[in-house]
Amino acid sequence: MYINGQWLEEGPTFEVYNPATGVSIGSVIDVSNEQVLDAVAAAEAAFPAWSKTTAYERSAILTRCHTLMMERQRTLAELMTTEQGKPLKAAMNEVKYAADFLLWFAEEAKRIYGETIPSARSDQRFLVHKQAVGVVAAITPWNYPISMLTRKLGPALAAGCTAVLKPAEATPLCAVAVFEILHEAGLPAGVANLVTVSDPKPVGEIFCTHRAIRKLTFTGSTAVGKSLAQAAAPQLKRVSMELGGHAPFIVFDDADPVHAAKGVSLVKFLNTGQACISPNRIFVQRKILDSFLDTLQGRIEKLHAGDGMEPSTTIGPLINHAAIEKIDRQVQDAVAQGASLHSGGRRLTEDGLEEGCFYSPTLLSNVSSDMLIYREETFGPVAAVIAFDDDDDVVAMANDTDYGLAAYVYTQNLSRALRTFEALNFGIIGINDINPTSAAAPFGGMKESGLGREGAREGLEEYLETKLGGLSI
Ligand code: NAP
Repeated sequence: MYINGQWLEEGPTFEVYNPATGVSIGSVIDVSNEQVLDAVAAAEAAFPAWSKTTAYERSAILTRCHTLMMERQRTLAELMTTEQGKPLKAAMNEVKYAADFLLWFAEEAKRIYGETIPSARSDQRFLVHKQAVGVVAAITPWNYPISMLTRKLGPALAAGCTAVLKPAEATPLCAVAVFEILHEAGLPAGVANLVTVSDPKPVGEIFCTHRAIRKLTFTGSTAVGKSLAQAAAPQLKRVSMELGGHAPFIVFDDADPVHAAKGVSLVKFLNTGQACISPNRIFVQRKILDSFLDTLQGRIEKLHAGDGMEPSTTIGPLINHAAIEKIDRQVQDAVAQGASLHSGGRRLTEDGLEEGCFYSPTLLSNVSSDMLIYREETFGPVAAVIAFDDDDDVVAMANDTDYGLAAYVYTQNLSRALRTFEALNFGIIGINDINPTSAAAPFGGMKESGLGREGAREGLEEYLETKLGGLSI
């Protein structure tokens, strides 16, 4: 717990576990409601001075944070693998991605421009000014335990906001490591505060109702995001919501089925399927279905589940046993309703995996719209394939969801690619591309996948108010 520039180490604690082994890897302070209020008060007190620093000063601190994070890339990645489970190589990539947000927003801080607008009156001038929103409350998930923090703190601090952050209960150690960097980079006391808690509800209530907090930024499930947005509504707090997804992955018959299957295998099993942009429904045009399934099955069977610290591991554990149960329920439901199981479909408990949360990489075909997996976010290593015949039908099927975060399209035909891109109701669309994300690109969803964008210029706007001056001269 880091409040007003101080590390607080006294008080009740909760344990943190390695999901690959079930072994405790440490503990953190379980903060009280009074301490959360202290953190908000520290952020409120720090706001006037921090918001008046120049963009160059804020940029210099964020740049130092970027340097420190990249210097510690390996140590941070090892911590992340131990705490969250992803293979070390993926953790190294996440630390780099996380650091990118610090550098990108360090640069962008210097480009928070206002504007002047011509008036219809000759004696009048309009001046548009951008200023920091105020104290920001941030809540982050466990699946990307470093980058989800910097994607919020980078732009918030660049804009001149101060912040209180609550990380996920499963991954507070990564959050502590991020705040150590902020501290060493010289961030003034109170500008960013960390509260680690085992019960998120009381903190959520404080974040949504405290008058000093002007903005809530949340990444997590749609259900929790909706309830927080509702609780923040009476004070009309600004909210950003990065929520769940149910990404369609459409493979047209002019695409190379081997290339497309390779793309699916890479993005679907990334982070053991625990990504908001993970493909949940894979639509394949019937003509190329067999060769697509053969290639995908071959690649899935080569995946090696294990502790992410082992070099041979290509897929890590799930975060906890509840995740295994949810996934298994979806798989069993699909099979009971006629889906074909090509590989996987069970918890892994052999070869030293018995204490961990492992599920075998799974391939299902003949998936249909009445199955749970067609509607519910899976958040696990299950590839669910659906055959289609017609271009218009597949767009309608892809859009038939309350979610609207990511979608993917594979085709060699430019017109088809553009038509589909325009028709899909999703915020992020990869066209023959499985990684349409970057600190420089706006990330966020439509419909029940969220409100607002992170990354890019849009990500900075989320932390800025627009103020108009009308001057009579
Ligand atoms: P979650 O259960 O909603 O939790 C997310 C965060 O909210 C955690 O810090 C959690 O704390 C906290 N939380 C839970 N209930 C709360 C409450 N009543 N009041 C205040 N805070 C509360 O989601 P998750 O299982 O950690 O993350 C997976 C979800 O996040 C998926 O749906 C995924 O798609 C989504 N996600 C979205 C994006 C995106 O950018 N759109 C990125 C990553 C993940 P505890 O850990 O203590 O429960």
